[in-house]
Amino acid sequence: MSGIHDLKLRGGRVFQHGAGLQDLDIVVAGGVISGLVAPGTPVRAAEEVDITGKVVLPGGIDPHVHLGKDIRVPRDPDDASLETASAVAGGITTMLVYLMSADPYEGVFAASDATMAGNSHTDYGFHFVLGTDEQVSQIPAYVSELGVPSFKFFMNFRGDEGKYLGLPGNDDAYMYGLLGKAAEAGAVVNPHPENIELVWKLRDQPRDDSIPPLEAWYRSRPPVVEAEAVQRVAYFASVTGASVYAVHTSSKAALDAMRMQRNAYPNLFTETCTQYLTLTTDSDCGTYGKVNPPVRHREDVEELWEGLRSGAVDTVGSDHNARHRTAKEKDIWSASAGFPGTGLVLPTTVGEGLRRGIELERLVDATSTRAAQLFGLFPRKGTIRVGSDADLAVVDLNATTTVRAETQYSAAEYSPWEGMEIPLRIVHTIVRGHFAYRDGVLSTTPTGTYLSRTHGGAAALAEIRKEFA
Ligand SMILES: [Zn+2]
Repeated sequence: MSGIHDLKLRGGRVFQHGAGLQDLDIVVAGGVISGLVAPGTPVRAAEEVDITGKVVLPGGIDPHVHLGKDIRVPRDPDDASLETASAVAGGITTMLVYLMSADPYEGVFAASDATMAGNSHTDYGFHFVLGTDEQVSQIPAYVSELGVPSFKFFMNFRGDEGKYLGLPGNDDAYMYGLLGKAAEAGAVVNPHPENIELVWKLRDQPRDDSIPPLEAWYRSRPPVVEAEAVQRVAYFASVTGASVYAVHTSSKAALDAMRMQRNAYPNLFTETCTQYLTLTTDSDCGTYGKVNPPVRHREDVEELWEGLRSGAVDTVGSDHNARHRTAKEKDIWSASAGFPGTGLVLPTTVGEGLRRGIELERLVDATSTRAAQLFGLFPRKGTIRVGSDADLAVVDLNATTTVRAETQYSAAEYSPWEGMEIPLRIVHTIVRGHFAYRDGVLSTTPTGTYLSRTHGGAAALAEIRKEFA
């Protein structure tokens, strides 16, 4: 190791794919990992930090985040600074943020990037939510010019359902066209799978106020609503050759549908979110826990953990948004859906996953590596190796964290997990060599930068195979 490096992390146990935790010192120069060396190897570094007894994981990647007070786009500096602070406090070093607009994305992208730059503690990329024909026709340009190869659309936005977000209604023919166009462009499609026609029928049923709020919400959007839509979009994917990444999978039924389709067609990927691994309709969080799809029952939670163990579930995201407390403190029918949670993805998945005896390799995949691979960020992100970005979560597996809204930074001012104890503590979060979060203290200088990407889904996996062939 020649020359002077910027940083040396000494004494930690470092996660290496295929080899588990290894005693290695990590050396960083210019924001990338410049060396992984045997403990005690003499290396000259401007700063040396002792992390004896701690474990170093690839920085978390939250593939599912919404920013902005109306959850469409980040507009104000604090939309970026507070929510990304929440992320780095939880070991997240990269987030992929959904932008939602019916306008052409060139302008939306530029404005959102300008808000993030200088305010984001994490590195960030964008997914675009598509709603118009003009946007679909621009998919190739969005990939090649803006570096966005991942697109969401809401299968449930029929008629006026998307009006509250300014998005027009769509139908299966729109979805079919979008999937084909994305496949041609080497992009991945992230559908929000819910059959709204079933929901319309169910929500017209007379309301029974004796049913607890989260259970009532569940019954208005039961698993069949999600599972049918997953099944439909997966089938259309197989016909069009598209890659489909089912976001926020919440139920055993939806996971079963995805597994069945994946037997016949491989380019299908599954995300779940922290809430579906931890909360049920019996949880003590009232309307703070309202979200779409709804939190489910114990058997669904257990099945999703089994999916994580087996690999049927690829990734864990948060579906984070900063909906304010006042939008949630209402009856279940009028409360807003969604809540903050990006800071809990890594601690909960890894902490609780290890407690359940799931292999660390699988948990690292789900919280970092797999998202990097599927969204065109690997091997720059998602792994600890020489030449990769020095994005690191330094964790203490022998300590615990208690969730407190007042220390989660988010503008939301509540957490559905208030008081929950997690068997893991985030010690430092390092973003390209910079301590974004150090010993419980947030950096005053956000250094996050935009991540331009070229491929998504199966096309991104093919790029990785080429590189390592
Ligand atoms: Zn979402």
